[in-house]
Amino acid sequence: MKYIYLDNAATTRVAPEVLEAMTPYFTEYYGNPSSIYSFAGTAKNAMEEARATIAGILGAKTEEIYFTGGGSESDNWALKATAEAYAEKGKHIITSTIEHHAILHTCEYLEKHGYEVTYVGVDENGIIRLDELEQAIRPDTILISVMAANNEIGSIQPLKEIGEIARKHGVLFHTDAVQAFAHIPLNVDEMNIDMLSASGHKINGPKGIGIMYIRKGVKIRSFIHGGAQERKRRAGTHNVPGIVGMAKAAELADAKMEERMAYEIKLRDHLIERVLNEIPYSRLNGDPTKRLPNNANFCFRFIEGESMLIKLDQKGICGSSGSACTSGSLDPSHVLLAIGLPHEIAHGSLRLTISQETTMDDIDYTVDELKKIIEQLRSMSPLYEDFVKKNQK
Ligand SMILES: *Cc1c(COP(=O)(O)O)cnc(C)c1O
Repeated sequence: MKYIYLDNAATTRVAPEVLEAMTPYFTEYYGNPSSIYSFAGTAKNAMEEARATIAGILGAKTEEIYFTGGGSESDNWALKATAEAYAEKGKHIITSTIEHHAILHTCEYLEKHGYEVTYVGVDENGIIRLDELEQAIRPDTILISVMAANNEIGSIQPLKEIGEIARKHGVLFHTDAVQAFAHIPLNVDEMNIDMLSASGHKINGPKGIGIMYIRKGVKIRSFIHGGAQERKRRAGTHNVPGIVGMAKAAELADAKMEERMAYEIKLRDHLIERVLNEIPYSRLNGDPTKRLPNNANFCFRFIEGESMLIKLDQKGICGSSGSACTSGSLDPSHVLLAIGLPHEIAHGSLRLTISQETTMDDIDYTVDELKKIIEQLRSMSPLYEDFVKKNQK
């Protein structure tokens, strides 16, 4: 059976060029880059080249890039280690209500350990309220952490403005850029970003590898204790194939960014237009324009998200009801609640995230099937029946 994979926000396929670049570091140049002998030198050089590639894409210095075990680790590190390093200045952190759980659950952990967290709200399109953000800053605020782009509804945050506010008040600015890195342009200097998290597997790279950008001068503690790797800030034998793969993926994505963005936007907007025009009682979640090129997120009234996903799966279509991390829980998405949707509508959500491999035919097939599925599910819904009856009166 052929799958139509529309869940690229959950993870992506490793690009063939990426796999090819990685393979020799499993089989041939498997030396530990921390070793002295020249055999390990090839691995060490490849790793440093990878660091320089990623730094170049972000407008950072090579020595400001640290390799981690993925986006979640980078987020945990940014928050926990800054909290510890700056505890003397204060114990107040600001974030948003729509962050990924890697940030939100870390904030909850810090709250249990004597830190105070302010969760700044977003508008109905999922864009952070800048006035609320600035008002939340106190003398004991040490860190603002706001994601670059949301993983559920795709809204892109005003990073430059947030960076300016943080800089003006002498507060550090971290951004979870896992969905944005190598998808849309980012520059740590132009945006006043002090720390940034990114992950390999969201950009056609391998899973289990990520980076953290840490601006020179930011005091940050080591997170994983052990060996002296990563300038003594992140211990553990380097995942050289992963590092090489992530850099290759980033390089490929960066080189074709403009072209890919235009292609994805064309498909995304066709998908959105067809859904909104052809499926009654549907709405688009997130900002219509300030959104990731590959993201569409809808709510369908009188529909339960889970049943829709199962029926789509029977047609070979992989979608999601929000983030892969929350599926399995019955609570509606915290992001959809944060943009002001009532519970019963937030339950009927569908996230479709495309890639450069998605075709217009894939989109049309998906919408055709989705229309039938929604009609069928509504025909079985007593709520919908009541609603139709009421409207006929
Ligand atoms: C996927 C994701 C993460 C987690 O990254 P992993 O590499 O899977 O740990 C964090 N934040 C956002 C916004 C994500 O989309």
